[in-house]
Amino acid sequence: MFDWKQDPHRRLNPLTGEWVLVSPHRTQRPWQGQVEESARAPQPEYDPSCYLCPGNERAGGARNPRYTSTFVFDNDFAALRPDTPPDRFDQDGLLVAQGEPGICRVVCFSPRHDLTIAHMEPADLRRVVDTWAGQYRELGARESIRYVQIFENRGAMMGCSNAHPHCQIWSNSHLPNEVSKEQASQLAWREARARCLICDYAALEAARRERLVEENASWMVVVPFWAVWPFETMVMPRRHVAAIDALDDAERDGLADILKRLTARYDRLFATPFPYSMGFHQSPTDGDAHPEWHLHLHFHPPLLRSATVRKFLVGYELLAAPQRDLTPEAAAERLRSA
Ligand SMILES: [Zn+2]
Ligand SMILES: [Zn+2]
Ligand SMILES: [Zn+2]
Repeated sequence: MFDWKQDPHRRLNPLTGEWVLVSPHRTQRPWQGQVEESARAPQPEYDPSCYLCPGNERAGGARNPRYTSTFVFDNDFAALRPDTPPDRFDQDGLLVAQGEPGICRVVCFSPRHDLTIAHMEPADLRRVVDTWAGQYRELGARESIRYVQIFENRGAMMGCSNAHPHCQIWSNSHLPNEVSKEQASQLAWREARARCLICDYAALEAARRERLVEENASWMVVVPFWAVWPFETMVMPRRHVAAIDALDDAERDGLADILKRLTARYDRLFATPFPYSMGFHQSPTDGDAHPEWHLHLHFHPPLLRSATVRKFLVGYELLAAPQRDLTPEAAAERLRSA
């Protein structure tokens, strides 16, 4: 048997069927690459030039109300439009395209320009959770919407140009690629074993504990065994729940609590506001029952070694398979001690 901590090996992601290459022996090699500017300037509570702050004018010309809690609006420069004809084009199976109706929204977490998830009050975060659940249900109830993707890009390193804490919701007619892979895997697992893939995985990680980062009564956070990003995590409810709107009162409070503690832990790791892309994966809203689906979130942070040294997915990753040096077990250990 190879040595997990020394020998190159590959690990399977059972949710996507894809492999990641792990090269733990390389963690000592010297770094001579890019150094990012550390974005640590403190933000003001209100920024008159921010298009998300209460009362300000947005780029499209609309003006935000003087909102006092969470605030949702249709994206002024939406990637999807509800009136798009759903026609299909297919020439010899080689030139295939399809009109994609959808709705894109923006959710401001709070009126405060400076309050990230790590610094929000639990009661205010709970309102964000309720807003996510309400949007999932409202958008998902529409005939043309079969999937609701809730996600947040945080930090300039992840391409987020506005510091005001907010997330996006893109909802559309077809299952996006990643969701489609995870659906197929969860369905196959259920058909083969009459159990849930993520329930089984969560039970295993709860027993082994070496990749566990945070937990409370209703949620757990692990660095997945197959993580691609150095400090990637997966947030799972302990109960088998298909979508966010099915979370009960205690589980919603539990989600607010675990998100606050996880993002604070990230911020402490390299003493910097930690950039990431995070988002939910959950049941499609196509009208079918989806007993195979287990709600979860993924956090994909780019930082590798400090506030300024990031990981890039280039070369081998783009052309062959993702690769990492730091083992998921070592990453979990570092997050636990942050
Ligand atoms: Zn703002
Ligand atoms: Zn489950
Ligand atoms: Zn997923």
